[in-house]
Amino acid sequence: MGKSSLDVRGLYKNELIDYLAQLGEKSFRGKQIFCWVQARVVQDWSEMTNLSNTLQDKLSQNLRFSPLKLILERVSCDGTRKYLLELEDGKRIESVLLFHGGAISKKRTTLCISTQVGCPMGCEFCATGKMGFVRNLTAGEIVGQVLDLTYLRKKEDQQFKINNLVYMGMGEPLLNLPEVLKSIRILNHEEGQKIGIRRITVSTCGLVPQIESLAEENIDIVLAVSLHAPNDKLRNEIMPVNKQYPLGKLINSCRRYIEKTGRRVTFEYALVKGFNDNMEQVVELSTLLRGIKANINVIPINTVSDGAFNKPSSEKIKKFVVALREKGLDVVIREEKGSDIEAACGQLAGSIM
Ligand code: SF4
Repeated sequence: MGKSSLDVRGLYKNELIDYLAQLGEKSFRGKQIFCWVQARVVQDWSEMTNLSNTLQDKLSQNLRFSPLKLILERVSCDGTRKYLLELEDGKRIESVLLFHGGAISKKRTTLCISTQVGCPMGCEFCATGKMGFVRNLTAGEIVGQVLDLTYLRKKEDQQFKINNLVYMGMGEPLLNLPEVLKSIRILNHEEGQKIGIRRITVSTCGLVPQIESLAEENIDIVLAVSLHAPNDKLRNEIMPVNKQYPLGKLINSCRRYIEKTGRRVTFEYALVKGFNDNMEQVVELSTLLRGIKANINVIPINTVSDGAFNKPSSEKIKKFVVALREKGLDVVIREEKGSDIEAACGQLAGSIM
């Protein structure tokens, strides 16, 4: 058997067991390896101390095991950490680690991960969108962001664990749905990282056929739809996807998703000064989302260095949110983190400099 293109970090436990059988090994070895890789986050075959040297050699010749290379880490004044990571082919992605509430040792953690190198969707406010599309990540590369950053943080804090996972980094996750779903199922596995399925959020800019496909998957993740505007005219200006899937189609697909899964949908609304932050938009938004089981995250936009969008004043943000609540919508202002290191929404561009 020649050197495989199979990445050990992107395999289900059962796939590993089957592969080990093909190599003439006992099935329990597959389970041991899954645990070393996914739960104990080792970085090399030689760290799997209950495997013989001969088996370690055999595995290294047959499976790929390539931790992502950390190129740079930036720490925000609010504790948010942004990582520039290099893939095996030299392409670069970014992941962002956020801490919430409590004393340092008790903080909950959220990791925002990438699913593509670049992105083809071209949203106007997004630095990744300006890069264009390079390629999809594999399940192993998506899982690898969680494993490698856990390994890194554990050097400082043995108890470190990622509690929440958001597929909101570089790329449109639903354009890479099979690998995204595989990564979710691996990271949720009880013998791996055990990240709670309801603590995993997958975002989309609004791809209708893929939302329909996701609804068929019977997977209890949180679906977050980037809305950002309450009418087609405004949304067309900032999100090219709206020309293909205008709001009427998008909202109908969200209704079907809710009906099929029984889950609420989260709508993300980036609030931009003078663009979508007026009372007129409050009325449109409440009409658009009337009767839908939804949470709305209002995110005061972070300025992308060459962008033309600005953040509304705190007063304006508060007024907008209060007015939406008065219309009966469930709204939260999403805490803005890491904007000083360009780690916030729409600021990832794979350069980190
Ligand atoms: S916001 Fe998301 S979907 Fe839009 S260009 Fe950026 S990464 Fe792509």
